Amino acid sequence: MGADGINSTLAPLLLGEAMDPPLYSGYSIFFGVIDDFHKRPQTLPPPDATRLADMLDHPAAIIQVLSPTKLFLVAGGAGAEKKLVWKLGYPTPTPPQRKEWVGAEGAVRKELQAYLDKKRETDKADATLPVIQSLLDRTSDARLLHFGLFSRGHKPFWHKGRVILIGDAAHATLPHVGQGANMALEDGIVLADCLEEQGFRHVEAALASFYAQRQERTKRIVDSSKAIGWLLDAQTPVGVWLRNAVLESAMKMDWYMKFAEKEVIGGFMAGRDGVKKEE
Ligand SMILES: Cc1cc2nc3c(=O)[nH]c(=O)nc-3n(C[C@H](O)[C@H](O)[C@H](O)COP(=O)(O)OP(=O)(O)OC[C@H]3O[C@@H](n4cnc5c(N)ncnc54)[C@H](O)[C@@H]3O)c2cc1C
Repeated sequence: MGADGINSTLAPLLLGEAMDPPLYSGYSIFFGVIDDFHKRPQTLPPPDATRLADMLDHPAAIIQVLSPTKLFLVAGGAGAEKKLVWKLGYPTPTPPQRKEWVGAEGAVRKELQAYLDKKRETDKADATLPVIQSLLDRTSDARLLHFGLFSRGHKPFWHKGRVILIGDAAHATLPHVGQGANMALEDGIVLADCLEEQGFRHVEAALASFYAQRQERTKRIVDSSKAIGWLLDAQTPVGVWLRNAVLESAMKMDWYMKFAEKEVIGGFMAGRDGVKKEE
């Protein structure tokens, strides 16, 4: 079983001509984790400093700042356990090379600092920049990363004989709907079900059944993540207006939760632990 991620070693051996390289999205990110976020000063710089600080005090806060700079914050835990995960997305035609993902001797810090200094000259009105500066100042070199966002094309099969790909090795997605790890976990559960249904004897039949059960759902998630990424990355005034209108309606009408409920409770979970499939 190849559960070896988007740069899977097994995938090209198994897929042969159906293999294609990971697809770069045109976006890269700086990514950081602040392990001692409980020690932070009670206020962060603007925009809307107090409100942002209040939101981050919540034990499970997710905040997405869309423009002009794309900043995503996830705060979790309480008291001394409080951590903050942050990522800053930006468009660039060339993603960092593998050796640049974890920059030795503060290399990622220098790159992000240079990015911020340049932004301060070109986007003086961007009130997110001081927030990012304070996040960078609070993050240690060991917790800073810099990498491109990639996905993989849909595959006509994931198995050959008794060998199968699961997780990102089979269906790597962009992160915009936060489902990559969830899909990998689901794969493990469904694969176990398929093997059990075949009495752990007819492995090839179980693997074929696995593909039949998982292909449609994972394709839907990979495609919707791409579409949502495209919407979030809107640059033109019309695109930004459309994005804001769609997101506002989605929030007001609770689309995301309804979608998640239908997908998870009515779809993947249906029939498990007494969950009934929706008619
Ligand atoms: C910025 C970002 C944000 C994300 N946010 C979310 C989110 O909010 N929610 C969510 O569900 N998902 C999210 N994801 C996606 C999630 O991280 C991946 O989908 C998930 O980690 C895939 O799990 P995996 O086990 O298939 O692969 P991986 O986590 O990549 O694990 C593969 C493992 O195989 C190992 N390996 C590779 N090659 C070999 C080899 N030849 N021999 C032995 N071992 C090998 C690797 O070292 C690694 O440990 C995000 C991803 C990114 C980049």
